Amino acid sequence: MFLVCLCYAVASLLLQMLSFSSGDDTMADSNCLFCRILRGEIPSKKVYEDEQIYAFEDINPKAPTHVLVIPRKHVAGLREAQADDAEIIGRCHLIAAKIARDRNIEKGYRTVLNVGPESGQSVFHLHVHLIGGRKMSWPPG
Ligand code: AMP
Ligand code: ZN
Repeated sequence: MFLVCLCYAVASLLLQMLSFSSGDDTMADSNCLFCRILRGEIPSKKVYEDEQIYAFEDINPKAPTHVLVIPRKHVAGLREAQADDAEIIGRCHLIAAKIARDRNIEKGYRTVLNVGPESGQSVFHLHVHLIGGRKMSWPPG
């Protein structure tokens, strides 16, 4: 009897853990604006894509060039990134540099990651802003 109870307890614990993790992932994905852009549910102006990365024009540009470079994998932001996200975060920056080169704005551009609500982060899918094509002031506001 003790064994049956133990098995039941372990099984329900495992089920609970499974439903928590899949619930969280599904919610993050289905509610995430940039995941919806990646799935083609919301239109975007593509600038670049490969198997891991997608880049598109920001809908509310703050400079002549304002491109968002995002990983296809849903990562909420730099704050939430894990050690195994290091490569994809680096690649997002290298793609931003490539776009800047292609657009001939290498005289001066900026890559920006807003991290957390107080920085102005409004979309919680990691994205690198590539901003350029005009003179920029320092420090940013
Ligand atoms: P952040 O404030 O750093 O989270 O940046 C989010 C960016 O996403 C802002 O610059 C917005 O203008 C941009 N944005 C929001 N919705 C869209 C959309 N549907 N297509 C392209 N860019 C968007
Ligand atoms: Zn997402």
